[in-house]
Amino acid sequence: MNIRALRFDLLKTAAELSRLGLNRGTAGNVSVRCDDGFLITPSGVLTQNLTPAQMVEMTMAGEAHGGLKPSSEWRMHRDVYAARPDVGAVVHTHAPFCTAIACHRRGIPAFHYMIAVAGGRDIRCADYATFGTQALSDAALAALEGRTACLLAHHGMLATAPSLGAALKLTQEVEELAEQFWRVLQVGAPIILPDAEMDVVLEKFKTYGQPRKA
Ligand SMILES: [Zn+2]
Repeated sequence: MNIRALRFDLLKTAAELSRLGLNRGTAGNVSVRCDDGFLITPSGVLTQNLTPAQMVEMTMAGEAHGGLKPSSEWRMHRDVYAARPDVGAVVHTHAPFCTAIACHRRGIPAFHYMIAVAGGRDIRCADYATFGTQALSDAALAALEGRTACLLAHHGMLATAPSLGAALKLTQEVEELAEQFWRVLQVGAPIILPDAEMDVVLEKFKTYGQPRKA
């Protein structure tokens, strides 16, 4: 895909996150891998006031090109691309239910088999670190080990995928799980599926759905 199309798709994804209520105001940010670096949404501007040309192009060394400052969380995005060659897009949101659970410094356990959608037996919560810091990026990377998504303590969540569309879908799925978990907690401590059962589910997920086109 050429860079013009990627800029358009990136802004469209950011707008869709706002429309779905997964992001509010200027919180959250989205990026997509491109050439030797990535494109990321700019810092502190409402999505409806942005144009595709204002998406900020960044190198893996952290240099930004363009008129606007990149999102303050660019390090987290850059480090995910550096560590995970399979990742083509990263979504960071303060989605309400993910954030509520993350403010208790809790991850989401296997209360429901769909937790496997993030690639493992649970969704971890990264340790707290100040927004925009290398420490936060390091904590997020640790929580993402063997997973495609994580919560961020006292902050929000992070989702990674091969494409922008898949990252948006995963963000919705993780927020839905967070909402269900929050509701389950109202009744008491849930029963957690055993590791052996989650391993069966994870195996089934590898072949679930329509076969991928070559
Ligand atoms: Zn944030």
